[in-house]
Amino acid sequence: MKGVWEKRYERCLICSFCNSRICHRKQSRTLKNPNRWFYICPHDKKFNKWEDDVKPHEWILVPYCGGCSAGLCRVKRVFSGSHPGRIMFLCRVKEGDGSCGYRVWQDELETMEAARQAEENRKRDAEEVEAMISNQNQLKVLHEHISSTKDRLFQIEAEVSCCEVEMGLLKLQLEKLSKNKEVLEGKHMIASKELEQSQKLLEEKEAEQNAAFDRARASLEDRIVPAYI
Ligand SMILES: [Zn+2]
Ligand SMILES: [Zn+2]
Repeated sequence: MKGVWEKRYERCLICSFCNSRICHRKQSRTLKNPNRWFYICPHDKKFNKWEDDVKPHEWILVPYCGGCSAGLCRVKRVFSGSHPGRIMFLCRVKEGDGSCGYRVWQDELETMEAARQAEENRKRDAEEVEAMISNQNQLKVLHEHISSTKDRLFQIEAEVSCCEVEMGLLKLQLEKLSKNKEVLEGKHMIASKELEQSQKLLEEKEAEQNAAFDRARASLEDRIVPAYI
């Protein structure tokens, strides 16, 4: 809560002598208190307090003017029967000098601020809940995606093992075929050798036949020729 307040408010000390003025902050340059911060009355420059001596309850949060850009509000302490020392914040520009007329009681401002803060918290909580729901939905979608991917993976595995079986069968078949091929090649070789031998035999027989034929013709010619002479 303090963090939000500090953005639009400033922590101030009210002068303990004139009771309505915001003290000025100064830094000591003395040898006894080097660089120590302290507060003085802006009116008569009277020393109020060392900053490190101010009690937490003595600080007040003074708002910046809510009606114009004049800056930090003026503080007025009003003493009346029901509210002794009630603090009012006013536009720092005096009336008649162009003041925007902004004025608000400290306690009312605190109530308003608390309500604003509560509203902000409510909005933030709602946003967080929404973000959580959206995250849960995303998670659900992710889970579904994972489970469908798993299913697909199982399917692929089954397909792969089925393929492996088929591949094994095909390999066996291929081996069988190549053996058959070898056997056939062997048979083919034997057959061609046999064919070659048969051809040779045939050629020899033909040659023999031709020779016999030639011989027969020659002897026949020998016998016939003289009859024509
Ligand atoms: Zn004073
Ligand atoms: Zn103003």
